[in-house]
Amino acid sequence: MNKHLRCPLCAHENLTFKFSTKDYFLTGEEFDVHQCGFCGLQITNPFPDDLASIAYYQSQNYYSHPGKSLNPLALIYQLIRRWNVASKTRLLKKYCDSGNILDIGAGSGSFLESCQNAGFSVMGIEKDQNARNYCSTRLGLHVISPEHDSQIDESSQDAITLWHVLEHIHDLHDNIEKIKLWMKPGAYLVLALPNPESPDALFYGKYWAGWDVPRHLYHFSSDTMRFLGKRNNLRLVNIVPMRWDAFYVSILSEQYRGKSLTALRGLYHGLKSNFKAESCGNFSSLIYVFQKPEN
Ligand SMILES: [Zn+2]
Repeated sequence: MNKHLRCPLCAHENLTFKFSTKDYFLTGEEFDVHQCGFCGLQITNPFPDDLASIAYYQSQNYYSHPGKSLNPLALIYQLIRRWNVASKTRLLKKYCDSGNILDIGAGSGSFLESCQNAGFSVMGIEKDQNARNYCSTRLGLHVISPEHDSQIDESSQDAITLWHVLEHIHDLHDNIEKIKLWMKPGAYLVLALPNPESPDALFYGKYWAGWDVPRHLYHFSSDTMRFLGKRNNLRLVNIVPMRWDAFYVSILSEQYRGKSLTALRGLYHGLKSNFKAESCGNFSSLIYVFQKPEN
């Protein structure tokens, strides 16, 4: 385990304990969440280092892995994911009509495949070797391991996407620097993240599935993301809701707090969360669209 003494986003030392939660998904281990008093970033602290974190991804149910599962929740997830892939591609098309797309944390490649079909030149980065093999052999996509990211040219990408990925990445600062380097002037950075200030997060508290410790190393609010943009000279051009996530996260959170009728309760609280979020904007997950300045 490593411990942050400084905030990984702003480097301030003002980190205070906020609450403890568990890895409800896999190991049952307890982890603390700290918050930076300067930029507001919440972090899982201490957190497993890069190598130790592999153990927390060893599950048939971890959804970035390709393949089929008979788990009803996984089936719902797969259906939502199909719909999501199409809407993500449509969103990207609004900002960027053609060119090079890099998807970091490409998983089983469904988003890249959709972008390729929409006329983009696509490339992915994916840590999981099985997922990489699936992308190349089944879908014919060019997906590399993070260790080989030096082959990506500077100022080569028209858009870079990270769908629920930034919260998993060690070396936050170094990776953001690399991403900015790979972006062309005027290129877009699209980041989807769970929102720890959403009504469902506030309702479920430590049981909220969006904490997903210790796989999620950071927990970004919209204010923290505005700070991240300013600090990195990236212009925030839009924040887009991911309404389906409220249902999925609420059903999972109901499982974590050991309630019966998890699907019904989850659907109800997901609906309630979306309803409240329509006025405050704090949807369960949010997509942030940033643009690199033209010069
Ligand atoms: Zn900070």
